Amino acid sequence: MPYRTTFARRRCLFLSGRLARTPAQVFSRLRYNCAMVKPLEMNYCPCCGHALIDKFIFGRTRRKCPDCGFVFFRDPKVAAGVLAEQDGKVLLVKRLYEPHQGEWALPAGFVEIDEGPVQAALRELTEETGLVGRIRGIIGTYHIRADPRGSIVTILYHAQIVGGELKPGDDAAEVCLFAPDEMPTKLAFASTRSALWRWGRSKKPNLG
Ligand SMILES: [Zn+2]
Repeated sequence: MPYRTTFARRRCLFLSGRLARTPAQVFSRLRYNCAMVKPLEMNYCPCCGHALIDKFIFGRTRRKCPDCGFVFFRDPKVAAGVLAEQDGKVLLVKRLYEPHQGEWALPAGFVEIDEGPVQAALRELTEETGLVGRIRGIIGTYHIRADPRGSIVTILYHAQIVGGELKPGDDAAEVCLFAPDEMPTKLAFASTRSALWRWGRSKKPNLG
C-alpha cells in the first residue's frame, strides 16, 4: 500500500480517537456524546430573579429579562492547556473523571473568570502534575463541539518545565511522560490528539 494512503488513514483514525478501538466502542462514545450535549439554558434572570422571555436580539433569539434588561448570551466555555516536553517525551495525565475517564490528555482545564488563558494553562499544569512551567509559545486553538459539557474553545501552549515534582493531583489519576513511539492508544479530546500528532511528526522530520 502506498505510504500516503497508510499515513492519511492512520492520521484520520488518530484524530478521531478511533485508533485501537473497536467499532462498538466508537459507536458507544458517539451515542454518549450526542445524548449528553445539551446546550445550557437559563430560565430565570441571575440579576433580579424574574422569568426570562425569548426575544430576537442581535441577530438571533435569546433569553432576555423583561424587568431589568439582562440578556443571556449562550457562548462557548474557554479552556487552556499545555504540551510540556522533557527529555524528548511529552507529559500526559490520565483523567480521573468523566468525560473521557481513564483516557490520557494534555494537562488542561477551564479558564477561571479572574485569570487569562496563559495563567490558567500553567495553573492546570501544576494542579494536575505537580510541575511548574513556563509558556514558550502557542500551539493553536481548537473548537470542540462534541463535549458533554457543551461547546468548548481550547487554547494549547508549548510549555517548558522549570520546577516542581511529578505527582498526580486534582482530577488526574496518573501522570506520565511518553515518547512519540510509545503513546497511549486511548487519548481524550480532538485537541490533544491533534497537538500530539503534530508534535510526533515534528520528532520525525524525515517522514515529511
Ligand atoms: Zn432581571
